[in-house]
Amino acid sequence: MHELTVAQSLLAAISAEAETQKARPVSAKISCGTFSAVNDELLDSAFQAISEGTVCEGMKLKVEHKLMQGRCGNCRQIFVMDLRRPECPKCGGGDYELLPDEPLVLEEIEFKMEQPDVQKSKGRQKNSHRK
Ligand SMILES: [Zn+2]
Repeated sequence: MHELTVAQSLLAAISAEAETQKARPVSAKISCGTFSAVNDELLDSAFQAISEGTVCEGMKLKVEHKLMQGRCGNCRQIFVMDLRRPECPKCGGGDYELLPDEPLVLEEIEFKMEQPDVQKSKGRQKNSHRK
């Protein structure tokens, strides 16, 4: 399963980054191309399964799917490939080359800084003298 492999490498990369940052990751953004595309739901469930008990548990993954692009051989226009109508939107030419597909990339990780004292001390008075 492709998604499991991807989830494992994501988990490794995010865990390493979390250790460096000394923070808890809350979400990550991934982008992928047409041929490296992952199934969002499969990736998510694979990630949830293997991240259980790690610092990455409960993280949200956002996957951005980048579309295939082509370059017109006539006017050099770069356009998003519509495989049902593969022609240049500018000049209508059907002579084009496909641009290299986007690889699967971990774009960014969002961290939550640990603030252990804030919540507990709120609303509680240190002086609890009563008469
Ligand atoms: Zn063109």
